[in-house]
Amino acid sequence: MKLAERVGRIKPSPTLAITAKANALKAEGKDIISFSAGEPDFNTPSNINNAAIRAIENGFTKYTPASGTDELKDAIIDKFKRDNKLTYNRSQVVVSCGAKHSLYNLAQVLFEKGDEVIIPAPYWVSYPAFVLLADATPVILETKEAEEFKVGPAQLENAITKNTKAIILNSPVNPTGFVYSFSELEALADVIVKSGILTISDDIYEKIIYDDVPFFNIINTRDEIKDLTLVVNGVSKTYAMTGWRIGYAAGPEKIISAVSKIQSQNTSNPSSISQKAAVEALTGNQDYIGMMVDEYLTRRNYLVENLNNIGISCMTPQGSFYVFPNVSSLYGSSYMGGKILNSVDLAGYLLDEANVAVVPGVAFGNDDHIRLSYATSIENIKEGVKRIEKAIVNLEK
Ligand code: PMP
Ligand code: GLU
Repeated sequence: MKLAERVGRIKPSPTLAITAKANALKAEGKDIISFSAGEPDFNTPSNINNAAIRAIENGFTKYTPASGTDELKDAIIDKFKRDNKLTYNRSQVVVSCGAKHSLYNLAQVLFEKGDEVIIPAPYWVSYPAFVLLADATPVILETKEAEEFKVGPAQLENAITKNTKAIILNSPVNPTGFVYSFSELEALADVIVKSGILTISDDIYEKIIYDDVPFFNIINTRDEIKDLTLVVNGVSKTYAMTGWRIGYAAGPEKIISAVSKIQSQNTSNPSSISQKAAVEALTGNQDYIGMMVDEYLTRRNYLVENLNNIGISCMTPQGSFYVFPNVSSLYGSSYMGGKILNSVDLAGYLLDEANVAVVPGVAFGNDDHIRLSYATSIENIKEGVKRIEKAIVNLEK
């Protein structure tokens, strides 16, 4: 049986695949330290869990409107006002089954054959897949480590052609952890407004930022860009709610209502119970976000310092829960049974020899690096670094 051609355009999500492999090895009894999963290791806070339990007990277990409940849309609208100084009405907001679903649906309603979509690299693994599944062409913009892997206005302007439909911006960035400043966004906004392309702004790590670095959405820099921007966010990372599958998008009504139409014909609504939980997440006590971020900060500091101490060059990220060290100095090394030529070889070596799971940078469009998620306990991080050190000492140049 022949599958549709589009299936062959993409690979399974490498971040999910490596996490699944690490979990399978653990289930076989192997002592694996996993730096692969991009998901908070904290439990969902109990006030949120209780809101879901109440929803079940009260029979809030039926279909809701396909684009989400008014109650959750209002909580999202308030969040945008409170945190981002952005004003939307209900018809400009859609709730999806995770931010990934919002992004996928946006690609489906906006992109088609012949369209080019600009994606700065390193990028989150799913962006090119969304574009390819919509029959459009990803245009990858390489960025420099020395420039914190950020795309600048001249580079963006040079990449825009008559076929360019949009740019996908993500800040804090998965996998690098860098945060675009107001002036950097302002410079990009000037180019975007002049050219009239759309921006999809993925703000999912908005709340996971350290050292008082401020967060801005590109719309904060210029009012004119609001009609050209789709903001995507969700509760997965901020509230440790990855399994609940609630994300959302806000933007021009025409685009949002097209996303709602698509949703009404595929998934219908996101889970009614999860929507009640998300209302509590967005409107309830926010104190534990600071506690989680403090814990991530301790881990980030330990990891950055100790990776550098063992000779792995690692910049200090400002946000998210990833580090993205440069491991290219290890390329060309050998070990009994093999040679390390790229990030896939190194990740394979670390898994086989050190029982440590990391994600090869090539999955994010940069083969000189690997990604480590520090959404895991400090004990695991300490043990993981020890194992990495031992494994790289055993390499021969
Ligand atoms: N954007 C980025 C950059 C991410 O890392 C993730 C994590 N999976 C998502 C979007 C999607 O998150 P979710 O679908 O869980 O809301
Ligand atoms: N965003 C997370 C990561 O980058 C979760 C996995 C995924 O959805 O790809 O690891």
